[in-house]
Amino acid sequence: MRDLVEVYRRLAARCDYPLHLGLTEAGMGMKGIVTSTAGLSLLLAEGIGDTIRVSITPEPGGDRTEEVAVAQQVLQSLGIRSFLPQVSSCPGCGRTTSTYFQELASDIQTYLRGQMPVWSERHPGVEELRVAVMGCVVNGPGESKHADIGISLPGTFEDPVAPVFIDGALDRTLRGDHIVEEFKAILDGYVERRFPMPGSR
Ligand code: SF4
Repeated sequence: MRDLVEVYRRLAARCDYPLHLGLTEAGMGMKGIVTSTAGLSLLLAEGIGDTIRVSITPEPGGDRTEEVAVAQQVLQSLGIRSFLPQVSSCPGCGRTTSTYFQELASDIQTYLRGQMPVWSERHPGVEELRVAVMGCVVNGPGESKHADIGISLPGTFEDPVAPVFIDGALDRTLRGDHIVEEFKAILDGYVERRFPMPGSR
């Protein structure tokens, strides 16, 4: 990978041709993803590269959509181009013993991805949406306030309530057994308002 980065740096210094970046033998699974991301990020951050590809050896029977997803995420993480709403979620720690926030973060991510075929047609710009799903009240509200819409779930020994923040301000507090469904409905409403269908205003 270091050779590849060096070759592209030298090429970029010597010519003005568009450069297509890609690491052909990145490998399988996490190793392939991390190696590709590391190489592409170094070059893209220096302004080198006009198109990219990611090459990951698929698992037996696997498909190649992961390569596209990784390439898109590299571009979005570097702030070059957005493709999907992004979910920020905390890693979890001793302040939460529940896996609830992990399940919610995964659920919301899957939900957003599933909505995109429709949303991208009806709500231009929705790929810039930032959602936060946090595990307790210590860092949850702060991180949620920095997202467009965020929820902070109750940590260990905290009241069983989940404040929802919209555009940096507390919007409401959810409680009970239907927090996931209610949060998705709030999310839908936010997307409708913030990214209206062209001509609907
Ligand atoms: S938000 Fe709370 S549970 Fe999540 S990592 Fe931070 S302190 Fe731990």
